[in-house]
Amino acid sequence: MRCDACSREYGEVPEYLRTSVFEAHHVVPVHLAGERKTRVEDLALLCASCHRLIHRVIAREKRWIGVSEFAAIIG
Ligand SMILES: [Zn+2]
Ligand SMILES: [Zn+2]
Repeated sequence: MRCDACSREYGEVPEYLRTSVFEAHHVVPVHLAGERKTRVEDLALLCASCHRLIHRVIAREKRWIGVSEFAAIIG
């Protein structure tokens, strides 16, 4: 597994903990995706810190921020 934003793999973290590092993030805002079922391609895999940060940026900018735009922000 690797974070879609910062590309970290957390290989130094013991394997049994690594799954807790990564969280699923909706690529399309849930309120825009509507009622349809969530598909795998609707989800990005983000590490917990990137996931926290992307939602902080979205709240700050008051608009949706894509994963690639967020990746450019964190460099
Ligand atoms: Zn990350
Ligand atoms: Zn999210």
